Amino acid sequence: MLSILADCFAQDSVTISKIKALNEKAENFLLKEKSLSSYYTIDNNGISIYESPEHKIKGMHEFYVNVNKIEEFKLFLRNSSFAQQADMYKRGSYDNSVQEKINDSKISVSIPNNSKANTIKNLQGLRIAIDPGHIAGNMEMGNIEKKCLTFKCFGPDGTVDSIAIAEGMITFATAQLLKEKLEREGAEVFMTRTFNNSSAFGITFDEWLKTDYIKTVDSLYKTGKLSLSQKQFFLSSKASKRDKFRVIFKDIELAKRAELINNYKPDFTIIIHYNVDENNTGWTKPAGKNFNMAFVGGAFMKNDLSSPEKRFEFFRLLISDDIEESIELSSAVIKNFEKKLNVKTATVKDALYLMEGCLLTDEPGVYCRNLQLTRYIHGPLVYGETLYQDNIGECVRLNKELDKTKNERVQQVAEAYFQGVLSYVKNKH
Ligand SMILES: [Zn+2]
Repeated sequence: MLSILADCFAQDSVTISKIKALNEKAENFLLKEKSLSSYYTIDNNGISIYESPEHKIKGMHEFYVNVNKIEEFKLFLRNSSFAQQADMYKRGSYDNSVQEKINDSKISVSIPNNSKANTIKNLQGLRIAIDPGHIAGNMEMGNIEKKCLTFKCFGPDGTVDSIAIAEGMITFATAQLLKEKLEREGAEVFMTRTFNNSSAFGITFDEWLKTDYIKTVDSLYKTGKLSLSQKQFFLSSKASKRDKFRVIFKDIELAKRAELINNYKPDFTIIIHYNVDENNTGWTKPAGKNFNMAFVGGAFMKNDLSSPEKRFEFFRLLISDDIEESIELSSAVIKNFEKKLNVKTATVKDALYLMEGCLLTDEPGVYCRNLQLTRYIHGPLVYGETLYQDNIGECVRLNKELDKTKNERVQQVAEAYFQGVLSYVKNKH
């Protein structure tokens, strides 16, 4: 009898500390907008999420996991497909009646059975996804995306550089170089874009306009995402390429990136971006600032729980270790950015969006931010924002070489990501 009581007590104290930790995690990493706490409960019974604060008052959950099933649910998240997870969410609670294959598939570098040290590869057996940010492989596309710099930069010695950089060019070159390095160490690498100027649809934006644009506008209208007058506007000659990109293409293309990555089921994902100074709007002249930072999931703001899809991702980020793992990976990468690029790590005071749109983690330069990709990509990730492209020194360095894989600065960035990945993987074992 006494031992049963002791067992109960031990179990209760484990449960209590688990509940406390989850409540703290929600507050520290997930709730940028504190009032969003009226969408969930974490207590002795388990974790529930609600469609609205009114549904919470009425006790009508949208999804629920019993407190004793949390660990099992984590394994389910790790080992099931996106479709299986969506299906489970629709059912309203986690149950294991569907026999999912549950096996602990934590990152494990399977070192080949070979005694010769020089043949052992550090990343053998790992699946890594890389997302090279944006699309532009030329300045025309860079202009449509509004992710490019064109200005003259006057050097102190009287030299003049005509700067022409599209972010998509340098993210793609960085990804190519990084892919080679990772593969040389035995990793299997998946890229969301496979050629310069390509989108996640496997074609350029111009090709997409020809083949997919009209049917996409149609389906957005049919699903209520566009009004009749919007549909008429976007199918008329009044809609510019920029309008079509911004309103119709951009979000569905980002969704495609997340879908491709989730289908691939990587051990982790690297999302590559280069930054600019937010106060240098228009980017028609160089500026002085230069920092590195990285984003992971979390920091939900007002309206960020407005659909079942978004609420499911909130729930996943709360229960899984994706945020914790992402912080670890991102921190390893950030440290190498600072070391290899000789550029400082951003503090929260260095950009307004870090203060207003992010939550701090314990790791310098790593911030929770609810971006479309940090929300929808499952598993550990690093969303890197290296270097300010419009910095007076960086723009000149990044401007060199037409083939950006030959650009020395881009090569250093790829090496920094690579070293970050190596040290993250090494720390896991
Ligand atoms: Zn970017």
